[in-house]
Amino acid sequence: MKTFYTIRTEVLMRLAIAFLIFASAAGTAHAQSGDGLKIFISVDMEGITGVVNWEDVSRTGKDYDYFRRIMTEETNAAVEGALAAGATEIIVRDSHGSARNILPALLNRNARLIRDWSRGPKGMMEGIDESFDAVIFIGYHAKAGTPDALLEHTSSGNVTDFSINGTSMPEAGYNALIAGLYDVPVVFAAGDKALTEQLQALLGEVETVAVKEGIGAAALNFHPEVSQERIRAGVERALRNLSRYKPLKWSPPYTLVLKLKDEEAVYNGSFFPGVRRTGDWELTYTSDDFLDIMYAFGAMRR
Ligand SMILES: [Zn+2]
Repeated sequence: MKTFYTIRTEVLMRLAIAFLIFASAAGTAHAQSGDGLKIFISVDMEGITGVVNWEDVSRTGKDYDYFRRIMTEETNAAVEGALAAGATEIIVRDSHGSARNILPALLNRNARLIRDWSRGPKGMMEGIDESFDAVIFIGYHAKAGTPDALLEHTSSGNVTDFSINGTSMPEAGYNALIAGLYDVPVVFAAGDKALTEQLQALLGEVETVAVKEGIGAAALNFHPEVSQERIRAGVERALRNLSRYKPLKWSPPYTLVLKLKDEEAVYNGSFFPGVRRTGDWELTYTSDDFLDIMYAFGAMRR
């Protein structure tokens, strides 16, 4: 018996060594060919499971700490899905409010986190460039004025409509256009049902998970763990079928028509170089450079 076990152990050891050599060679080849996926994840908070009220997403709200943890867990679900599909580099952009919501130590350690605002034109997409293979949105919400949507708004609370070349769009829409400048497709989005429908209408092919459904200002929610399972599976499925998704690319020139809520903001915005006042509370700005549009938008919405 002893001899049998010794021989068996030796065989297993040799097999293990052979496997380690093979795995290490395969790993090296993978890194050298550079075919691991590089993924950009932009994370907002209004579209996180369970969030239904502005207090839930405001630092002074009693449940904010609870929901920032769920936000971090939903982000981790996306990171895990990306890793399962072969991602080797993952950048997470915290995109809500202060941009200091995701709990750094609880974030999956395979991701790196962008916090706070740069005041540049990329905003919620800060860090995106042509080196990425795909973009993922987590916790996203529908545009201002959407029925049966949770905490629907567009950028600041001051905006009633943002349209480019005649198409009204949510934050997910103009962020997809920013990614498109670098030929990077948006492949997956999680948020409330209204957001997923808005993004599907804009992009056509995109994998989505509706973690909740608006009923007026109330919401029917999945359990957070169910949302996370769906996000993990959805992200992996999308990234394994990457060739299905196309970057959102529109030809210049771009014309932004921005509708705002109050006279003070419209008056101030009208002084930004190149901005025209085209209605009572409406500003228009045209440029061949979409980042120029986003930079002007930053000045006009304040
Ligand atoms: Zn937000």
